[in-house]
Amino acid sequence: MGIRTKLILFILTLLAAICTVLTLLFSHNEWAAISSNNQRKNLQILLAMSEVCSEIHDTPGKSSAYRYFKTFLKTPEIIKVSCSDANNSVFMEDRYYSSQPQPFPRLLKTFPPPRIGVWKTKNDNGVEILEASLAARSRKGGKISAHVDFSAQLIYQEMASSLRQASASFFVILSIAFAIGCTGTLIITRVIFKPIQTMADAARIIGAGRLDHRIPVTGSDEMGMLAAEFNEMAVKLKEFDDMKKDFVSSITHDLRSPVTGIELCSDIIKGFVEKQEYGKIPGQIFSINEHSQRLNRFIDSLLEISKIESGKMTLDIKTVNLEELADRAVRSFKSYAGQKGVKLEFIVEQDIPDMHGDPDRLYQVLSNIIGNAVKFTNSGSVNVYIQASPGWQKVRVCDTGIGIPERELKNLFSKFYRINSGPRGSPCVRQGTGLGLFIAKFITEQHGGRIEVESSSGKGSVFTIVLPA
Ligand code: ADP
Repeated sequence: MGIRTKLILFILTLLAAICTVLTLLFSHNEWAAISSNNQRKNLQILLAMSEVCSEIHDTPGKSSAYRYFKTFLKTPEIIKVSCSDANNSVFMEDRYYSSQPQPFPRLLKTFPPPRIGVWKTKNDNGVEILEASLAARSRKGGKISAHVDFSAQLIYQEMASSLRQASASFFVILSIAFAIGCTGTLIITRVIFKPIQTMADAARIIGAGRLDHRIPVTGSDEMGMLAAEFNEMAVKLKEFDDMKKDFVSSITHDLRSPVTGIELCSDIIKGFVEKQEYGKIPGQIFSINEHSQRLNRFIDSLLEISKIESGKMTLDIKTVNLEELADRAVRSFKSYAGQKGVKLEFIVEQDIPDMHGDPDRLYQVLSNIIGNAVKFTNSGSVNVYIQASPGWQKVRVCDTGIGIPERELKNLFSKFYRINSGPRGSPCVRQGTGLGLFIAKFITEQHGGRIEVESSSGKGSVFTIVLPA
C-alpha cells in the first residue's frame, strides 16, 4: 500500500472518529436538553393540576376548575389525573386508558426527576407509568394532593422524535463537513505527494544513469527547497562521475607513461648493445631510474590513501625544527624552479623554536605545497615564509602562478580532485593525481593543525600551513 493511500486512510479514519465523537456528544447534550424541557413541562402540568385540585377542594360542586380538570387528559402523554384530600380519599379523578402494554425501549440515558413533588415509575400490567404527585394546601388551608400519571412510553416517544428532528439537521451539517474533509484530504495529499512522486521518478531516472536529469523547482516552500537540494545533489553526482571518468583516464595515463618510458629506454639500450655502443647506455639508465621513481611516487600516493582510509596512517612524533624542514624542501625545488625561470625564495622572519611532529610527514606536506607552487607558476616568484607565534608555527607559500578559480576552492582538498586548467571537458590538461593536497591536509590535521588557502584565477595562490607549536 502506497504512503499516500495510508495517509488518506489515516485521515479518513481520524475524520470518522471525530464525527463519531461529535455525534455522541451531540446526542448526549441534545437528549439532556430535551429531557430537561420535558421535565419542566411535566412539572408545570403537575403544578397546574395542584391549583385545579385546590380550587375544586375549596368549592366542591361549584368550581369552574372542573372544566380545566377535563382538559388535562387532552395532553396525549397524560393517562390519569386525580385529586385526593388529607385522608387520601380521591375526590376527583379522570382516566384515559387502559392502554395496551407495549415493549418500552430505554435506549438513552434517563435523568433525575424534578425536585418538586414525588416522581415514581411503576409498571401497571406491562404499561410503564410515570406517576407524579404533589402535596399542597388549598387556599382555605385544607391539605390536598394532586396526582398525574404520564405514559412513560409516550413521553419517551415524543422525546425521541424531538431528538430525531434535531439530529436530522445535525447529520446534514456533519455529512457536508465530512464530504468537505474527504475532498480536502484528497486535494492536500495530491498537492503534497505530486512533488514527492516527481522526486521519486527523478531518483529512479538518475539511478538508471541519466545524471543530467533535473527536477523543476516550483516555489520556495519545503518541497521547492527539497527539489533544489535534490538538483544540487544531482549536479554533485555528475561532477563526481566526471571526476571518476577523468581519474580513470588519467590514472591509466599516469601508469602507462612511465612504463612506456622504461620500455622505450630499454629498447634503445638493446640497440646500443647490438651496436656495441656501450658508452651511450648510462644516459638511458638515468631515464629509466627517473621513470621508475615517478611510478613509485604514484603508487606510494595510492598506498597512502589506502592507509588513511583504513586508519593505519600513524605519526612518528619527534622533536623537529620546521625551519630546517622547510629549508630542505625549498632547496629540493631550487633547480626545478631555476629551469622554469621562477624565483624561489625562503624568507625567515624570526627564530623558529623546535616543536613536536613527524619530520618525514611534515616534510611531505611542505614539499607537496612548495612543489605545487613551483609546478603551477610559469613566471614570477614563489616565496616561502615561516613565522612563529605563541602556540603556533606557520609556513606561508605565496606564488604568482595560475591561481585557482574560487568555485574550485571548496573541493581542492578532496581526494583525486584536480583542476582542469584547459578548456572544459578536456581531461588531458589536468596534471598529477589530485592526491597530494588530500594527504597533506590529513597529515596536518593529524598534527592538530590546518591548511588555509587564498587564491584567485590568474593571480597566484597563498597556502598557509598552521601547526600547533
Ligand atoms: P597533484 O598531486 O595532482 O598536484 P594536489 O592535490 O597536490 O594534486 O593538487 C590538486 C590540484 O590543485 C592540482 O591539480 C592543481 O590544479 C591545484 N593546485 C594545487 N596547488 C596549486 C597552486 N599553487 N596553484 C594553482 N593550482 C594549484
